[in-house]
Amino acid sequence: MSLGSHNLYSKRQGGFTISSSSANLDIKSWLDPQEMKEKLGRLIAIESVVENGHTESLVVEEILTWCRLDGFVPEVIEVSGGRPNVLLEFQGSHPGPVLLFEAHSDTVTAGDPSAWTHSPFQLTVEGDRLYGRGTADTKGNLVAAYLGIRAFRAATRGDFPGTIRFLVPVDEEGMMSGIRHFIATGRAVDIDAAICCEPEDLQICVSQKGALRVRVEIYGKMAHGAMPLTGNNPLPLMARFLAAVQEEELVQQKQVGFDRYLGWPSITPTEIRAPLNGPSGFNVVPDAVAVSLDIRTVGDQSHAELLHRLQSRLDQIIENANEDLKSGHVKDLRSRLEEPVEPGIYSGKVVLIDERPVTRTPSDHPLVQSVAGAVEHCLGQPAIYAGVPGATDGTWLWAAGIPIVTTGAGGRFVPHQVDEWVSLRQLMDTAEIYAQAAYRFLTFTEMPVQGG
Ligand SMILES: [Zn+2]
Repeated sequence: MSLGSHNLYSKRQGGFTISSSSANLDIKSWLDPQEMKEKLGRLIAIESVVENGHTESLVVEEILTWCRLDGFVPEVIEVSGGRPNVLLEFQGSHPGPVLLFEAHSDTVTAGDPSAWTHSPFQLTVEGDRLYGRGTADTKGNLVAAYLGIRAFRAATRGDFPGTIRFLVPVDEEGMMSGIRHFIATGRAVDIDAAICCEPEDLQICVSQKGALRVRVEIYGKMAHGAMPLTGNNPLPLMARFLAAVQEEELVQQKQVGFDRYLGWPSITPTEIRAPLNGPSGFNVVPDAVAVSLDIRTVGDQSHAELLHRLQSRLDQIIENANEDLKSGHVKDLRSRLEEPVEPGIYSGKVVLIDERPVTRTPSDHPLVQSVAGAVEHCLGQPAIYAGVPGATDGTWLWAAGIPIVTTGAGGRFVPHQVDEWVSLRQLMDTAEIYAQAAYRFLTFTEMPVQGG
């Protein structure tokens, strides 16, 4: 296992060693690099950056054109205004498991286009490299999945067990409303496993970090900055709380340890706001302060217990401060003032905004075995296992009880940067790996009972 090396592709060696006895399909002869480039070029030319006021609808139009020419009958499902999911399905000649591929249709913004060497919304080919926003994340993998599934259909002539579905959901880079809509409308209930098509350098990502979005609010009493004793300033309490958060992070890291695929857990303060509403003032003691905590979890960390521990630490800080107001140092200082000051009271709360579980598909699951076998067959070298540091659409599928593997072409650290690119050869490998993995999975003899 060489987790340190994330550039699997550059280390690819010639010659194949087939480490699995499973039969393989002849997929390669159904794939054409020219078509891969052409189709990806069409998708890159469509700006599907929602934060810049676009939607995914033109990407969907393009996919529908391909489907018409290839004889697929897709379902178009409106998620919200002008933002449709597309779903393709084709069934084999006899019953079997249901395998889902999914690749989102939106991309993040290109940022400042002048920072790009190549135009972000026009595919630029430089040797084996294809440049453009979304080439890696994840329009390249979308095209690879489409062409891989089409090649699978051609190579099997429809003679296979089970069903393949291909979902292109909207809004992965936003609130993931596409995949959530797909699950909420009951379309995922019979799915046995899913392959999430994302740029992972063809590493097999079997786990994803969990996430908690937490806001912690501390309330005091507003005052003039020149007469701070007439109020209760919540900011020093926040400073104490942030120090406690750092301590808690260390406790968690020691307790959980280093996850081989996901690294360390973390508790990261990212935003501070005071007051909570309205403008702040240099000479005004705010009545309240809030901090955002971006918490990422790994392994068996209990979200409930972590929240409880943060709450206890906050309670302790507030209790001490209130004690001080009633009978401590602050009370002494106030006793000399001309005007008596009402002691008031500090309070605070921990608010959970959003929560996503840690996902982990066991490495002996047929899905993982199938993808690993396909990677080894196509690349001629052992599969490399890894984890996904952020949440993806796959998190929601996993939460719905569906085992997932995330893999695809493109560097793991290329997404969301300028000059995003993908290797054409790796895209071709990805299309073949998706098809071979599907074949292995659907013909896997022992399907486990689906877990929740
Ligand atoms: Zn993505």
